[in-house]
Amino acid sequence: MSDTDTTQASSSGLRTPIVAVLGHVDHGKTSLLDKIRGSAVIEGEAGAITQHIGATAVPLDTVSRVAGSLVDPTDFDLPGLLFIDTPGHHSFTTLRSRGGALADIAVLVIDVTDGFQPQTIEAIKILQDSSTPFVVAANKIDTVPGWNPREDSPVQGTYDAQSDRARSRLDERLYELIGELSDHGFSADLYWRVQDFQKNVGVVPVSAMTGEGIPDLLTVLMGLSQRYMKEAMAIDVEGPGAGTVLEVKDEKGFGATVDVVLYDGTIREDETIVVGGTNEPIVTDVRALLQPRPLAEIRAESRFDRVEEVSAAAGLKIAAPDLEAAMAGAPVRVVRDREIDDVIREVEAELAEVEVSTEEEG
Ligand code: GDP
Repeated sequence: MSDTDTTQASSSGLRTPIVAVLGHVDHGKTSLLDKIRGSAVIEGEAGAITQHIGATAVPLDTVSRVAGSLVDPTDFDLPGLLFIDTPGHHSFTTLRSRGGALADIAVLVIDVTDGFQPQTIEAIKILQDSSTPFVVAANKIDTVPGWNPREDSPVQGTYDAQSDRARSRLDERLYELIGELSDHGFSADLYWRVQDFQKNVGVVPVSAMTGEGIPDLLTVLMGLSQRYMKEAMAIDVEGPGAGTVLEVKDEKGFGATVDVVLYDGTIREDETIVVGGTNEPIVTDVRALLQPRPLAEIRAESRFDRVEEVSAAAGLKIAAPDLEAAMAGAPVRVVRDREIDDVIREVEAELAEVEVSTEEEG
């Protein structure tokens, strides 16, 4: 086994919370993920982050290094954060509207100057419908006229270092944004004023360009997960795997494959799985479980490493016969010691829910 497995469930059986990044086009979702990945790599040595299929794992140690004095790692027993990587991808849009089990928590990215836009509202509805807790990243604070950036600084430090003018310009925009959140039914405030994150949405001013506020964002995500998600993160790591299809892709040498985010249990090579399909659930046997090859070995003939098993939370690619008709957003279940028919019914029930909620939105 390679050391790429270190970011999955910890020995206590608490898995990594899955974080989705949503928001209007061009508000900075991709840049924010890049910045988080970048700061994690710069701050740490090798192993600071682990690249999954469709996701990036940032372990607690790395979160705490990036967050500096904001995070005391002994306050946490969750293993870190798993960020889903594909905010701009079409299937992610489909999947967002299917809501549900994809993410445990979310970051809603809003450009502080541009404010609420159609996809911001769409994202907020999805978060509301799926009861997904979220924080707002009020992005691009460096674009406030007169802003004097302090690379990778926590918000408070950079805020105090600004001119009165720049500070009050930022305040104006932040309060406008808090007002818009309120118009959409969310009581929100700057994150350091929020006492109860179940009642109020925390707003974290950030810049995906300069890295300002990234320590705060990671701290808030870690804190939220630890406080409200811990029970949900206690999984039977050895149990039958459950996940969601992110994407269906043809892969040279493998045929149709599915990229999956696994949120429960374990999946093993050769196991029988049930996958939601366009017409009916697909029952098939896993031919290969694939994870990305470390960057250094990228010249090898395949971009993927075959692994014998994968445990939640993780992003992985599954190669198996008959996956052509699999659907983005659909459930994946390992059958293991259960009746196949029961598992098929489970998948059907979940798909029915998906269809109903899609119709309601339409
Ligand atoms: P996405 O469509 O939400 O993924 O947005 P991108 O991450 O592609 O960002 C859209 C544009 O905004 C790009 O040109 C980014 O360089 C720029 N951008 C993103 N975040 C920031 C930021 O914090 N500050 C500034 N100045 N530009 C940003």
